[in-house]
Amino acid sequence: MSSFYVENFGCRATQADGAAIERQFREQGLDRAPERSEARFVVLNTCAVTASAEQDARAAIRRIRRENPACEVIVTGCYAQRAPSEVAALPGVALVVGNSHKHNLAQIALGRQSEKNSNHQDSFVPITTLGGATRDSIFVSDIFAHTELLAAPVFDSATERTRPNLKVQDGCNNRCSFCVIPSVRGRSRSLNLDEVLREVNQLVDAGYREVVISGINLGQWGRDLPVWDGGPPPPRLEGLVRAILEHTSLEKLRISSVEPMDWTDSFIQLMAESPRIAKHAHVPMQSGSDAVLRRMHRRYRPWHYREKIEKIRTAMPTAAIGADVMTGFPGETDAEFEGTRRMIEDLPFTYLHVFTFSSRPGTPAAAMPNQVPVAVARERNRMLRDLAAGKKHKFMHSFVGRSLDAITLNIVTKTSDESCQGFCTDTLTDNYLKLRLKGKHEPNQWMNVNVLHAAEGQLVGISDCSHRC
Ligand code: SF4
Repeated sequence: MSSFYVENFGCRATQADGAAIERQFREQGLDRAPERSEARFVVLNTCAVTASAEQDARAAIRRIRRENPACEVIVTGCYAQRAPSEVAALPGVALVVGNSHKHNLAQIALGRQSEKNSNHQDSFVPITTLGGATRDSIFVSDIFAHTELLAAPVFDSATERTRPNLKVQDGCNNRCSFCVIPSVRGRSRSLNLDEVLREVNQLVDAGYREVVISGINLGQWGRDLPVWDGGPPPPRLEGLVRAILEHTSLEKLRISSVEPMDWTDSFIQLMAESPRIAKHAHVPMQSGSDAVLRRMHRRYRPWHYREKIEKIRTAMPTAAIGADVMTGFPGETDAEFEGTRRMIEDLPFTYLHVFTFSSRPGTPAAAMPNQVPVAVARERNRMLRDLAAGKKHKFMHSFVGRSLDAITLNIVTKTSDESCQGFCTDTLTDNYLKLRLKGKHEPNQWMNVNVLHAAEGQLVGISDCSHRC
């Protein structure tokens, strides 16, 4: 029987797409190969957010050619959408399927021969720029003409069988000047409310105790949904969260990244008041400099951002608060960087994702003057990481001697510690801290844990069986 293997690069949304592609192949009767070296079709689901993400994809293609010369390499995802001709010209690539066509990827792969003669050809890219590639190896069209949303729950490989991630939104209507995502994923579109509830209920029925909802720009969820004559306005993210709480018995809902201006007072209050929503707020910041935010075409000013974070902290004193920050945006001066550094120092972040600017072809930022030398951008990145590490350390240590709710993951390790019968179980707390729980515990259980100490970047604790276990 034919088999497939899907390898994902990049963000959660890409992993969710990968899970949906796996579903397509299974529906076509194919099995998932245990290794890519054994698969008939190897799908590389790529990312284009940085130049190095694309480099990783090219290196993977070379590796697969060596390991499994007989397979068909299919490249999909954001890199395939951004530069189809470049990808198709890489030695060993059999098929390029952009984001525009990946909802049909398995069908295309299996029925390519018949597709050649069908009217699908109308939606191929022009072949004038296609080096050695042939026209029937590329399936890419204008992403803005597409409204499909590919989604299937996805599992973090490290925490497999726990905490599925459900993508409920794709695309983005913003135009941040550094970002290639809108041009490769198209306009914002939402999984409709009934489908979200159906997916969440299926996950609950299958025994999952935490579900993460995510999107490319999750705060835009619902804005594209149709308004029916005389009907109520379509719900927004807050309405979606309320509906999940009301119409499912999900024990814990975790909300992934939400842009600053979508943190309304009532949304913050809802998160603070519901024990069924994880106390975890991820709020992309990018820069603390007004001038840089303007050049980035971000829609908020530093004082807006500061106000949102302070409100979140006041409403939820023990919540995890994280942010994405970029260093080395074109023209970023020492003073502008210092504005970012100072804002991070002031605000109660518990972790940061720090990125170094990567110039993406076709974005306005790529053409801006005064590109920052890579060495300077990297040094700024290092400074922010150090700052973030200190904040995380302080936050973690503030829970020693207290108790926290944590969900057990599917990772049990042996230890020489006799106080826990030689085993520890990895968990993740409600407020997004790694916690090593003494003893061997079943995955996917919410436990109340007494925190004993912190070591090697994580908490160590013991279950408080008098509560819930
Ligand atoms: S909000 Fe900005 S950074 Fe985020 S996906 Fe949209 S354009 Fe890109």
